[in-house]
Amino acid sequence: MQNCEACKSQFQWKDILFSIWKSYKPIECSQCGRKHTITFGSKYLVIFLIIIPSVIFGLIMSPNLGLSKPVTFAIIVVLAYLISLILPFFVKYESKKKKLSK
Ligand SMILES: [Zn+2]
Repeated sequence: MQNCEACKSQFQWKDILFSIWKSYKPIECSQCGRKHTITFGSKYLVIFLIIIPSVIFGLIMSPNLGLSKPVTFAIIVVLAYLISLILPFFVKYESKKKKLSK
């Protein structure tokens, strides 16, 4: 899992999870306070990992199983929730580099 770029202390799984749930809220290192934001690529990874299984289930699996719309929706919500639990192991964060303006 992700480490702090400054002091190398590891982020907590729940810290990263809550960051994702709060629409990619920056994570502050619990040791040194350095702010880390999710990388551009990881934002898309999160979207793909949640949307693609949901779409596959909603459009392909659910009609084949003959599930009603409310049941399909409920399963997609549970599916998205379960996927989000493993996301902290895949996403990358980077600390904000201060760019000096010329
Ligand atoms: Zn740190």
